[in-house]
Amino acid sequence: MNARQSDAGHFAKNWQQQLAEAFTSLDDLCRYLHLEAGSLPFSIGAAQQFALKVPVSFAACMEKGNPHDPLLRQVLPVNDELRAYAGFTDDPVGDIAASPQAGVLHKYLGRVLLVTTGSCAVNCRYCFRRNFPYGDLQLSKQTEQAAIDYIQADPGISEVILSGGDPLLLSDARLAQLFAKFNGIAHLKRVRIHSRLPIVLPARVTDALVELLAQSGKQAVMVIHCNHANELGEQTRAACQKLHQHGITLLNQSVLLQGVNDDAAVLGRLSEQMFGLGVLPYYLHLLDKASGTGHFDVSESRAMAIMVELQAALPGYLLPKLVKEQAGAASKMLVV
Ligand SMILES: *Cc1c(COP(=O)(O)O)cnc(C)c1O
Ligand code: SF4
Repeated sequence: MNARQSDAGHFAKNWQQQLAEAFTSLDDLCRYLHLEAGSLPFSIGAAQQFALKVPVSFAACMEKGNPHDPLLRQVLPVNDELRAYAGFTDDPVGDIAASPQAGVLHKYLGRVLLVTTGSCAVNCRYCFRRNFPYGDLQLSKQTEQAAIDYIQADPGISEVILSGGDPLLLSDARLAQLFAKFNGIAHLKRVRIHSRLPIVLPARVTDALVELLAQSGKQAVMVIHCNHANELGEQTRAACQKLHQHGITLLNQSVLLQGVNDDAAVLGRLSEQMFGLGVLPYYLHLLDKASGTGHFDVSESRAMAIMVELQAALPGYLLPKLVKEQAGAASKMLVV
């Protein structure tokens, strides 16, 4: 984004334009945040592997002048990403083995996940799919029908999960096409969307999108990805409330990240504030061990200690389930 342009001017644009104006340069981002680029542990090498990409609406939630801001830490390419950590690999959760055909991941009973796109509005440094070969595995217009046929042929599948990348980067027209096809499958009860866009690009939650989800003909569930209460800016709050008011079940999942939210008070605040917007906590994930993300890792024993503290501070329904993903397992694994 042009640093001279005001936030208000930017936010008056539609979501596609806002996306096109996301920060991709360290200098622009630093100018916006009133930070000295030279004072940050930025790594060009890390940015070459996985580009810097931050929508203005997400940067607007960062604290100006704070090089340790927990939101900035999630998106800044740093030297630590180039360090090798034992046990961190390119396919940490066995996705490649779980793909019966392009765009389809079928690991768990009753649920099928569609990799609808490889793109995201934001590049989260901790992302477990940062090394994922999307070119081969994402759904394309050509392979979409085969994916629909796969679901149609298995009456045991009651839920389809749109994932990615970020499925809400698909146009309304593409989403409407997919929903129409899902609607033709009687044994499908629910459509679930996993998205970080309500957080990082809330302009995506247009009235038209909300209508589309509310009228999909199946029960609509949206799992939002929010890691820290500071991510809940005004536009995000409005987006969640709008979805909630239209009867879309809202859940939140977070990743437990060192230096971001590895703190019971931070997680407690997140649960409380999300509930105020109609969002219930779902999962708190231990980091998937993807290459380049080792510096975010929180040990299992520390994670459990944080959960004990969190449980003492919150009503049971505001406590997320601490889980980890294990390649080949029949579900996410509860960590207790
Ligand atoms: C995480 C995941 C799901 C969803 O699991 P839930 O426990 O139902 O949230 C489904 N399919 C795949 C491939 C997954 O990785
Ligand atoms: S939004 Fe999700 S899939 Fe996209 S980069 Fe962030 S963590 Fe990865």
